Amino acid sequence: MTASFPRAEVVIDLSAIRHNVALLASRAPSAQTMAVVKADGYGHGALEVARAAVEGGATWLGTCSLGEALALRRAGIGVRLFSWLDTPEADFAPAVAEDIDVAVSSLDELARVVDGARRARDFSGLNAICRVHLKIDTGLSRNGCPPAEWPALVKAAAAAKPLIEVVAIWSHLACADEPGHPSIDAQAKRFDEAYDIARAAGLNPMRHIANSAAVLTRPDLHFDLVRPGIAIYGLNPVPTEDDLRPAMTFRSSVVLTKRIPSGESVSYGHSWTAERDTTLALVPVGYADGVPRSLSGRMDVWLAGKRRPVVGRVCMDQLIVDCGDDEPSIGSEVILFGKDGPTAREWADKLGTIDYEIVTSMYRPRVHRTYL
Ligand code: PLP
Repeated sequence: MTASFPRAEVVIDLSAIRHNVALLASRAPSAQTMAVVKADGYGHGALEVARAAVEGGATWLGTCSLGEALALRRAGIGVRLFSWLDTPEADFAPAVAEDIDVAVSSLDELARVVDGARRARDFSGLNAICRVHLKIDTGLSRNGCPPAEWPALVKAAAAAKPLIEVVAIWSHLACADEPGHPSIDAQAKRFDEAYDIARAAGLNPMRHIANSAAVLTRPDLHFDLVRPGIAIYGLNPVPTEDDLRPAMTFRSSVVLTKRIPSGESVSYGHSWTAERDTTLALVPVGYADGVPRSLSGRMDVWLAGKRRPVVGRVCMDQLIVDCGDDEPSIGSEVILFGKDGPTAREWADKLGTIDYEIVTSMYRPRVHRTYL
């Protein structure tokens, strides 16, 4: 295919997001779906993803910071928003004013949220209420209230009415992407115990604990709300056959081709030498655009109907593809990962990481973004 492309472009297919959210919602029919759009929508663009996710059936959106949630609200997103991790300096008054649900993991945090609700009330004169989701640490040992402190937190939260309303208790799984891992049941058990304590304190909260992997493999953990992230972007963390469609494609195009004789070496350090006469295609994308230099000599691209190897070192702004006896035309599309090409998972496996890290690191000022 010959067309004119920006030199480096990330293409986000929003119909894939809509499709994936609808699929995930159908896998958890008894629960509402909260699409997780933190970290700029896992690198896909938070606002665009948020709109597509709502069209796909999400009735909630999840963010990490309050700032991320406020940006969505102020851009006109109307569905329930939940944010779960901020610094001790965070001001919760805007969360109350802008109707954002927040997480509480400790008595300290509860006090700050109550203070935010009080100030929002003083300021607006309205009966502002802060909607709180109490987080129990069931075994990930990140944020969340340790089980030993849970009864006190629940009691204090119940007593903070009417400034706050406890709408949910929630937790996060450590090993959901390893179906059958014993920690999943152990966390589920602690979650049940935390729920019983909340009920005994007079609360009637929703429950949520399922990330993408648990949505797809643990229907018993769907409860009232599920929180898929990576799967809404079409990347499946568990080996199921679900028809998830990757939303992100990273592409560039051929700007130059040249024939070199056998024995000629390529790129910095001459780490690759042609063993036969061959045609090279120059692609104007490099490590400054998100192609890791450590993939030099061990990555392929999709170009002119085939997978072809990148040869020699990936440079800051360019890389070189060995095309053998083919001569792709100038302007031919080159897929680095995504549709038709290698997958983000393939990059991740080679780099010793996870595809989450690949897609979330694709926001770069020099890389053009297109939404389909
Ligand atoms: N819930 C919380 C609290 C998270 O931190 C995340 C992501 O890290 C998710 C849900 C979504 O997880 P996943 O992307 O694995 O579906």
